[in-house]
Amino acid sequence: MDSLLQCSEETKSCKENPAVHKGDIKSLSFEELETVFLDMGEKGFRARQVFSWLHEKQAADFSEMTNLPLGLRESLSRQFAITVLEPVEVLVSRFDATRKYLFRLADGNVIESVWMEYHHGNSVCISSQVGCRMGCRFCASTLDGLVRGLTPAEMLEQVYRMQKLMGKRVSNVVLMGSGEPMDNYENVVKFLRLVTDKRGLGLSARNITVSTCGLPDGIYRLAEEKLPVTLALSLHAPDDEKRQELMPIARKYSLKEVLPACDAYFEKTGRRVSFEYSLVAGVNDTKEEAKALAALLKGRSCHVNLIPVNPIKERKYARSGRQAIADFKNVLEKNEINATIRREMGRDISGACGQLRRSYREKRP
Ligand code: SAH
Repeated sequence: MDSLLQCSEETKSCKENPAVHKGDIKSLSFEELETVFLDMGEKGFRARQVFSWLHEKQAADFSEMTNLPLGLRESLSRQFAITVLEPVEVLVSRFDATRKYLFRLADGNVIESVWMEYHHGNSVCISSQVGCRMGCRFCASTLDGLVRGLTPAEMLEQVYRMQKLMGKRVSNVVLMGSGEPMDNYENVVKFLRLVTDKRGLGLSARNITVSTCGLPDGIYRLAEEKLPVTLALSLHAPDDEKRQELMPIARKYSLKEVLPACDAYFEKTGRRVSFEYSLVAGVNDTKEEAKALAALLKGRSCHVNLIPVNPIKERKYARSGRQAIADFKNVLEKNEINATIRREMGRDISGACGQLRRSYREKRP
């Protein structure tokens, strides 16, 4: 069973996490669940029943699984725990339907997730790690470093729980909350397989976006997974020098290594890559930088997402002015680069990625 528990070395809190300690049934793939039942001397169809309880009906306890014999329910609850997240704080926007949730994990760590409603459907932004070790200068998630990677069940639960709390269906998932998905690769891919499994929630991979700061090995690997998710690369600068100022990871992987990985992703999956560009006043938002960005991306089938930076109190970065943002976009478009300015959802609760968790921990050291 141990290999299925996904308790990585950095998962300091495994011992205190009952879900990990016991056997994390919600993180098991359908095939792994089948093996569990066959090993128990049970019929294979039990896997289908339990998978549906966990991923379709989202049962929180084995006692809810009323079409299983009592003895089997008891035996399962002795071996396994069902990961459930407890909402500890919710911020509700006064302007739109956006909500920001803070969830407590079984080991006491907290993570944040966001619910957003668009005309094309409901979208959730989820975390892939508790904290982050990538060190991007403007990002609040990384200020205290990495605690641990999330299990597949903990990522699924963010989606399931928000869906349940809102009483509405999720149609899109973006891995743009705290954490670097490629730094928790195995768990993220397992999550992607589970959330797209037709026997469970069955989301379309095309409606899922994985955002990375640019770890080429992870990008090449993901391209081979036969999961046509959208890849988003956090670019934030048109050249290595400027990128290194904002993103320490750029010192390890230059654009010469990262961009070919994105090209390979497009070639393998046929999915247009998105480039994220957080606009920081006076740092990366001039027309010259827009021109350099257009030149860098020239000839690529891609899309640029311009994100006015969300200032965090620990750093001096300020968002670019309206005009600078509009000018930046115009330059890209004149150079035939598709660009959108990220619509600000829940602007009153828009506290940047990782800030809610941070303020919660400041209140309760
Ligand atoms: N580690 C992944 C996903 C994390 S966050 C990545 O780097 O892509 C998703 C996006 O939000 C990234 O592009 C990240 O750089 C950006 N981001 C983080 N904090 C921000 C802030 N305060 N303002 C604007 N964008 C921010």
